[in-house]
Amino acid sequence: MKARVLMSALCFAAAASLAGAAPAHAEWVNRVTDGIMGTRITVELWSEEHAKAEAAIDAVLDEMRHVDESMSTYKPTSEVSLVNAKAADGPMHISKELFDLLVKAKEYSVVTDGAFDITYASVGYMYNFPKHVRPDETQIAKALPAVDYRHVILDAKNQTVQFSQKGVRIDLGGIAKGYSVDRGIDVLKARGFTHAYVSAGGDSRIIGDRFGKPWMVGIRDPRKGEGEVIASVPLVDAAISTSGDYERFFDEGGVRYHHIIDPHTGHSASKVRSATIIGPYATRTDGLSKTAFVLGPEKAMEIYNRIDDIDAIVVKLDGTVVFSKGMQRGKATPPPPPPR
Ligand code: ADP
Ligand code: MG
Repeated sequence: MKARVLMSALCFAAAASLAGAAPAHAEWVNRVTDGIMGTRITVELWSEEHAKAEAAIDAVLDEMRHVDESMSTYKPTSEVSLVNAKAADGPMHISKELFDLLVKAKEYSVVTDGAFDITYASVGYMYNFPKHVRPDETQIAKALPAVDYRHVILDAKNQTVQFSQKGVRIDLGGIAKGYSVDRGIDVLKARGFTHAYVSAGGDSRIIGDRFGKPWMVGIRDPRKGEGEVIASVPLVDAAISTSGDYERFFDEGGVRYHHIIDPHTGHSASKVRSATIIGPYATRTDGLSKTAFVLGPEKAMEIYNRIDDIDAIVVKLDGTVVFSKGMQRGKATPPPPPPR
């Protein structure tokens, strides 16, 4: 994927013009929808038939609603809420979809030295950022032993999940939007679309190019308004996720409390202002964008540079921007995309 970023930057002038080759009535069809997974969904695709494009966008949104229904901890009937209610009592059979995502979550925990950890929710559930609510030190200390991804025991043969102790809670908020974007792209691919953009909040994925040129995806300046970008990244066939301390936060006594939690302390993880990951799949880029907040720019960059199929752009606390090695021109050699 590193090569995709670079190649698209270097070669777009020579790429075939999609517009020139297309039938006269082909067009970009775009829809923006608010409210699914508490965020803004954008779908844009190139289509030769308007009705087919609208039906495909409907199908993408249906798929995202399904992910929201089954994975949101805000919905007491979701499969994840049922797991939180029962998995400490014994092995619990779950859907293949959830099981596979829990396997991926565990994989991301391992590669990030535990910075990504869905059991952060054992403490995280006590925060309510819009209401400026946070747990006190006693509550954190009491709940913290339940935060450890190793408490989530997965049995592939029986497709079950079990929590090794009471008090463990999981929350897929750090991965579900990226996953829903990948599912949306799967829906579009299955319907034959080859040029499209799907995003859910800070997680996006692109297939194909745009009029023979890369899509330009802006990375927001963490301390400025939504329209202000620190960089625009040219992308073809890639996913990109940005995590920022400006999403869901409140400031109190000079401290910023925001929605990424350090699994080791139970406090907000505030070691960078923002982190952007570019890679083949949005599930993966979403899962990895939290790491820099927890581990800080140096340790996180070490990890990002170790992972072959991703690149990273991190805005440090002093506002300076650091790039992973693969973002330097001409260096990349493309590995085949691994499984999500
Ligand atoms: P967004 O939800 O806007 O996509 P992020 O991708 O930055 O934002 O993900 C933040 C979310 O990740 C939080 O709201 C929370 O649900 C979840 N989360 C917070 N801390 C962690 C962590 N250490 N590991 C895994 N998930 C986390
Ligand atoms: Mg995200």
